[in-house]
Amino acid sequence: MSLRTISPSQKAGILAEALPYVRGFHGKTFVIKYGGNAMTDPTLKAAFAGDIALLRLVGMNPVVVHGGGPQINELLDTMGVDAVFRRGMRVTDEQTMKVVEMVLGELNQEIVGLINQHGGKAVGLNGQDGHFIHARKMLLPPDEGETEAMGPGLVGDIERIDADLINILSARGYIPVIMPIGVGPDGEPYNLNSDLVAGKLAETLGAEKLLLLTNTRGVLDREGRLLDCITAADIERLCQDGTIHGGMLPKLEAALHAVRHGVRSAYVVDGRVPNALLLEVLTNEGVGTTILPDDAPHFLADSRRFLEPISNEMGDS
Ligand code: ADP
Ligand code: MG
Repeated sequence: MSLRTISPSQKAGILAEALPYVRGFHGKTFVIKYGGNAMTDPTLKAAFAGDIALLRLVGMNPVVVHGGGPQINELLDTMGVDAVFRRGMRVTDEQTMKVVEMVLGELNQEIVGLINQHGGKAVGLNGQDGHFIHARKMLLPPDEGETEAMGPGLVGDIERIDADLINILSARGYIPVIMPIGVGPDGEPYNLNSDLVAGKLAETLGAEKLLLLTNTRGVLDREGRLLDCITAADIERLCQDGTIHGGMLPKLEAALHAVRHGVRSAYVVDGRVPNALLLEVLTNEGVGTTILPDDAPHFLADSRRFLEPISNEMGDS
């Protein structure tokens, strides 16, 4: 439904619906992983930038983390660099790392520019700035015939994130836009998974919500039906039985960890829906899957009715 096709009173109703959310979330931090189509389609990109600027202007603290895998692959292909993978991770030598840093840097500046055009004050950051994302070399278990654990090169695991730099920027009204590069003990850069950076940031900042924008309707069950709301324990089950695989794995690992470490809720959001962020944060409409801690209060768990047997909904008051 386009805003042009609804009546003025319906528009007023939508705005009025946002008020309790604007009040309730004032001063709260939202970590948003930006990826998928929302990062390539010009209309969706502009809508995303506008949503981020608006959330900031009404008093929330959005923090953006972006990926860039498809764009990195594209440039490596045109350069004729052979892709070597180890257990699903791209082996990242120094030459590949230069390409990674270049592509991420360019994307970062583009996102910063777009948010600024929409009235926000975005600041682009790399985990090396102020040494704020600490990483260590990722090691993978030895393959057959090997005795030592080997890494995929300059790919890192996140050790910890210092919240200071982000808190200072947010407190002054800036919107941090972060690319997934961390720094090792000797100052060497590491390529990180952006879903995991977003999750760790949400946890470190004590964020209200972690929102993971992607190209699917949300988390789907084996039959391809949307799971409206799941808990951390549901995620463990869905990973074990293979329902969740591929690119959804790091997202839900990030979400699970975040909600078990103080983040109130996480969302896998359909980034193909224009203004998906506003819908998720400021209205009663969800556009994806909600992920809650295992002990979520009953009022939050209401929307879990699609997962829970009806008898479990009774008796709680
Ligand atoms: P992004 O670019 O946003 O990080 P990814 O492609 O890495 O997106 O991850 C999203 C993909 O995860 C989906 O397009 C889908 O192919 C895959 N996926 C695996 N399991 C599921 C699931 N249970 N529900 C939804 N998507 C899933
Ligand atoms: Mg991905």
